[in-house]
Amino acid sequence: MQAAHPSVLAVTGPHDTDGVMQAVHQHLKKPHDPFTDLVPPQGVKLTPKHYAYLKISEGCNHRCSFCIIPSMRGDLVSRPIGEVMNEAHNLVGAGVKELLVISQDTSAYGVDVKYRTGFWQGRPLKTRMKALCEALGTLGVWVRLHYVYPYPSVDEVIPLMAGGGILPYLDIPFQHASPRILRLMKRPAAAEKVLARIRAWRAMCPELTIRSTFIAGFPGETEAEFEELLAFLDEAQLDRVGCFAYSPVEGAKANALPDPVPEAVREDRRRRFMERQAKISAAKLKAKVGKTLQVLMDAPGVGRTMADAPEIDGTVRFRGGKVGEFCMVTIARSDEHDLYGRLA
Ligand code: SF4
Repeated sequence: MQAAHPSVLAVTGPHDTDGVMQAVHQHLKKPHDPFTDLVPPQGVKLTPKHYAYLKISEGCNHRCSFCIIPSMRGDLVSRPIGEVMNEAHNLVGAGVKELLVISQDTSAYGVDVKYRTGFWQGRPLKTRMKALCEALGTLGVWVRLHYVYPYPSVDEVIPLMAGGGILPYLDIPFQHASPRILRLMKRPAAAEKVLARIRAWRAMCPELTIRSTFIAGFPGETEAEFEELLAFLDEAQLDRVGCFAYSPVEGAKANALPDPVPEAVREDRRRRFMERQAKISAAKLKAKVGKTLQVLMDAPGVGRTMADAPEIDGTVRFRGGKVGEFCMVTIARSDEHDLYGRLA
């Protein structure tokens, strides 16, 4: 590699932070900086003090045709459950009130190690999403699951959400609803099965907030298939939704599929999709008016309910409260994205 590309100074494996830093320091002597030299060796968390991302694995065993992550990060490698729980425990000890569980595929946690039994505080724990959620649920903070692949195993964590162990919140990228497009994307789950599953989840846990992402204008998507996606939205009544117009990432297999959708059509479909969802989101938020909800305050005058993840979902605007603390807010009005209220 270095013979072919002499300007490359070092090559490391993925997520080898130490290796990268060693190489950097070999070639670039670190100047003395009285501010950064005071940074503790364990680093500095970049999120506000009251919430933190908890990465449970790296890489992915799926091969979605629009995605190049597996070719860059490799197959799934789960972190040992004891290590994940120690990190979570330390974060909570340092004042974190919300843990955001992240990975490329949270529901696959432990598949690579055959759900090996690990240990935390002397207790055996399976390297598995359900066991992890149960253990995180004992820490007494908000626990939010991101990037959950729509497997049947997701059903296992819904009772835990209903019981208050972890937040009733699922960030679950469905990507599309047309069975043919899902096959072309190499995604699982036919739409009608997904709809039945959503209904069953809501019956078990009526408080459940579902966030999802979709792609409009995937190669070969016909107008009828796009309409199928809109009909799915009407039916699924998801709480929070993001939609991307298909973007041909270099190296993605989907780029070679026949009948690419022209860029203007992709954009137009994304716009129509978001317009449709805006009505659903607005109605969902309106139903919260008059309720008194627990809010975690992120900044002066801005907080989030358990239905809102930081940065991607909506907010609650109100006066008073203390940043980084929970408070109760009575909701007075809403719009398409946000809620407005007053301290209860
Ligand atoms: S989209 Fe997600 S699940 Fe699919 S290959 Fe990429 S990282 Fe894996």
